[in-house]
Amino acid sequence: MSQEKDNLKNILRGRVFLKVEVDVYGVNIDFRLLKNLDLGGKHQEQVHALFEMDHVNHAEVKLPCDFSDEYGIIYPFHYDPRSSINIRYEDEQFFLYRDSKQLFPIKFGLRPKFYSLKTSDGTQMSTVAMYSYNPLDGGFVNIAYSNECSLKALGLDCLFCNANATKDTYADKEHISWKNPRQIGETVKAAIDLDDLQHVNITGGFVPERREVDYYVDVAEAIQEETGLEDFHGNAVIGAPADLSIIDKYKEAGYTYISTNLEVWDENFFKVICPGKHKECGGRENWLRSLEYEAEVFGRGHVRSSFVAGIEPKARTLEGIEYLAEKGIIGTCGIWCPNPGSKLEGHRTPTPEWHWDLHQKTYTIYKKAGFSYHDVLYTKPAPNDVMSDIFRVEEELLPVYKEVKE
Ligand code: SF4
Repeated sequence: MSQEKDNLKNILRGRVFLKVEVDVYGVNIDFRLLKNLDLGGKHQEQVHALFEMDHVNHAEVKLPCDFSDEYGIIYPFHYDPRSSINIRYEDEQFFLYRDSKQLFPIKFGLRPKFYSLKTSDGTQMSTVAMYSYNPLDGGFVNIAYSNECSLKALGLDCLFCNANATKDTYADKEHISWKNPRQIGETVKAAIDLDDLQHVNITGGFVPERREVDYYVDVAEAIQEETGLEDFHGNAVIGAPADLSIIDKYKEAGYTYISTNLEVWDENFFKVICPGKHKECGGRENWLRSLEYEAEVFGRGHVRSSFVAGIEPKARTLEGIEYLAEKGIIGTCGIWCPNPGSKLEGHRTPTPEWHWDLHQKTYTIYKKAGFSYHDVLYTKPAPNDVMSDIFRVEEELLPVYKEVKE
């Protein structure tokens, strides 16, 4: 490798580490600077269709979704007024700062065109599908068919989750409600036509009586009907079913990927952190059985189980990721942000160094298991997480590599 390329790779690794810091600490901005952005016009605004990922609620103020640097790395905008990482506006340009030290200029993400359209029943499409984009892979939509979780009524919702609290804070203000299959089909069609949509993730909280499968099948049919695509590159995020043969129905309906999220690996943590997943779905054993059967039906590298990294000891999460990888299942290590309104609000996630080390070790496990960049990417709801950037940097996928000598 040339010295120039080597130097570039080291700079990019530094930027991805900074992205981990942005995830952990959030980012601060003086709200008065937002007048220099055209949120809801040229620039994309946050839509709270399932989770609030900012570190504090901001019901009265629209905030951006993400921002990018000169290398094309895209950072999440998770607002935190306590963070020393902050955004300023100087000479008609936004810059990222650490305390009072300027780091680099940034650009905020553009609003997709379909956000300004309505479905045939008059629903704003921006409330149906949350869009994110990466120049390498095009657009992804994350669609939460329900914006609540029935586990709350049983007092069994997961301790890190703020789906129901997000609904209470934002649903009326942002006109968010349940989506029907027709609204989803029409929105996906518009996003394909106007915004280079490449991947569809369908998710949502538990529904009473666990009738998810009927809903997912209807959604797949509506997307196929609207778009004319048999394979719409869809990922279905589901809870472990009591009857595993239900998993075949998702495949038959046209989903290419499937996800069943364990959230934590340790059996005792699972009981405490995810009491509803433990009590309502046959316990952790059934979650593991379900994942293994999903790998049989959907194939190696087409099944994901997310871990909310930082709740349990790192060694336990890594044990889970390794165990699943051996079975062809991608365990992911999303950075835990103690969300407002969750039962763990006020707790702290581990340090950026802790999360960085977990990501590096997870990447090594993926390589050993033979998972490709696209295997890992396409089981996810969005293309701009830390692990996707680790692949892009280590495997020299970013377009910026073409600008340096071999
Ligand atoms: S199952 Fe758990 S993580 Fe999923 S929406 Fe319900 S409470 Fe949240």
